[in-house]
Amino acid sequence: AFSPKPGQCAILLKDITERKRMERALQQLATLDPLTGLFNRRHFFTVAQREFERSQRYQRPLSLLMLDIDHFKTINDTRGHLVGDQILQALAEIMRDSLRQVDMLCRYGGEEFVMLLPETTLPTAMVVARRLCMTLAAKPIPSDKGPVAVTVSIGVAALANHEELALDALLDRADQALYVAKQAGRNQFQVWLPGA
Ligand code: GH3
Ligand code: MG
Ligand code: MG
Repeated sequence: AFSPKPGQCAILLKDITERKRMERALQQLATLDPLTGLFNRRHFFTVAQREFERSQRYQRPLSLLMLDIDHFKTINDTRGHLVGDQILQALAEIMRDSLRQVDMLCRYGGEEFVMLLPETTLPTAMVVARRLCMTLAAKPIPSDKGPVAVTVSIGVAALANHEELALDALLDRADQALYVAKQAGRNQFQVWLPGA
């Protein structure tokens, strides 16, 4: 049988700790966006689906925000890609600060973010969207090349009572509302409404 001398156990433990650390690092790579530290799109779908089903089963409110930076291409073109990256990181931080622990934040695409707000009705989601727009419009984001004025457009959609809907469909509604916000002049949020 294995009978460790003093010191041998410690080495074994250290190996396990190292392996656990590696496993955690790999796990994070699979779930988090490296630039912002937010959920990546794939992981978002896994956790959001769970939350979505729970909300429907118990007929709980649930809202979804889709956010896209306005004229981000221009920011990249005039300030450089590195500043663009800094903006993305700062924006992720601002979103994190303005949401609750239970909310799910995801980098959905290049400069597009999705926020899933459990137990949140449409009016409350609108308050969140308005606050985000105003916070950003009120204060430029600091960067290596000085402060950069950044605005965003947001589409808001909520799970209505007793409605049979897939997560994809709710995302699509938020996307439609986002499109309306862009068309209406950006730096604002719009809500998806039936028949709109
Ligand atoms: P709109 O107001 O209509 O959204 O205009 P826009 O310029 O933001 O939209 P568009 O889709 O034309 O441009 C998005 C830009 O985002 C283009 C792409 O280079 C940039 N982008 C995407 N991912 C990253 C990234 O990780 N870092 C940086 N710096 N830029 C990125
Ligand atoms: Mg975009
Ligand atoms: Mg954009």
